[in-house]
Amino acid sequence: MSQIKIVEFVRNIYQTNDFIPLHKPTFDGNEQKYVLETIKSTFVSSVGKFVDEFESKIEAYTGTEKAVATVNGTAALHAALYMAGVKPGDFVMTQALTFVATCNALHHMGAVPIFVDVSSVSLGLCPKAMDEFLTENAELTETGCVHKKTQRPIRAAVPMHTFGHPVELDELMTVCLKWHITLVEDAAESLGSFYKGKHTGTFGDFGAISFNGNKIITTGGGGMVLCKTRDTGKQTKHITTTAKVPHPYEFYHDEAGFNYRMPNLNAALGCAQIEVLEQYLAQKRVLADNYKLFFESSDFQFVQEPEYAKSNYWLNAVICPTPDARDELLKLTNEAGVMTRPIWQLMHRLPMFKDAPRGDLAQSEYIEAHLVNLPSTPVLRAS
Ligand SMILES: *Cc1c(COP(=O)(O)O)cnc(C)c1O
Repeated sequence: MSQIKIVEFVRNIYQTNDFIPLHKPTFDGNEQKYVLETIKSTFVSSVGKFVDEFESKIEAYTGTEKAVATVNGTAALHAALYMAGVKPGDFVMTQALTFVATCNALHHMGAVPIFVDVSSVSLGLCPKAMDEFLTENAELTETGCVHKKTQRPIRAAVPMHTFGHPVELDELMTVCLKWHITLVEDAAESLGSFYKGKHTGTFGDFGAISFNGNKIITTGGGGMVLCKTRDTGKQTKHITTTAKVPHPYEFYHDEAGFNYRMPNLNAALGCAQIEVLEQYLAQKRVLADNYKLFFESSDFQFVQEPEYAKSNYWLNAVICPTPDARDELLKLTNEAGVMTRPIWQLMHRLPMFKDAPRGDLAQSEYIEAHLVNLPSTPVLRAS
């Protein structure tokens, strides 16, 4: 297939000759109403009804015991890792194929990532690769899993549901149980994605969602920690709101907390956005189906949801036949005003993570060299 056909196809879908972004937010629901209401109330900051309301709505939608709203997804991940008991010097297993925020959050906990490969089924943390790395490099002691060479704990595993496609959670949970490793899900990209009928981010002890401007719904900036129990939910709320002990007027804080609470102004936007989530999901599925059909008889392979999952199809992606075909597609589309992007450079290539231990990353490297993300804004009109 010639790459120019892809430009024509995308232009036809969006019915425009203007610049087509990768993913832009849409505000044609109650966004203005709720935000204006917040401004008029003067409760724009850390107190107000929309934060509680947004948390309740996310709890109802995802089925999590307790959701805690934060200033962004990275902060949600940071708080989740803190709550999971990650300590300075610990190792945390994750994928090299991820957005840098996954690794930044654990780095800020003083932990060091261990990179293992992703699965070709999900593009997320591969259970087999994780188990193989541990079998070779780790041992179980009375205090838990330790890295043999350094005798430092391997405390947690952070799989990331790449582009909204759920990882193989049953198998990953089995590996985590076997090695006494705590599961924390980076579900930043997967609001609206379900693994065997259950929402992503609710399998681990903690999960983190992002509401950044490019995600499926946005609060401007924002995030949410999904907590497995009411008790850890309460503690997460406490630690993300300066660890202040409730009192009518006294200031007493019982530990060094974070100021990670989502402002009411952002939560107002979130309350309006979640009202249209189902509609976005349906539109995104139609868009993905169109891409799938278009690429079916070509040598480009459209990335589809794993058979065990229902994906939100947050970012559509295609695997090009060769690295050259990838480069050509990126150049041609971007020059034609159709925004496409390569996947992130693998984490172990970045200066701050270059010395982190890692397993074989063949699949990650293949995807890095072949994958291109395509415009994914939901469209009402599907061609
Ligand atoms: C977007 C994203 C985050 C964090 O998001 P922010 O809200 O921008 O801090 C974390 N991990 C992944 C994989 C993401 O895509």
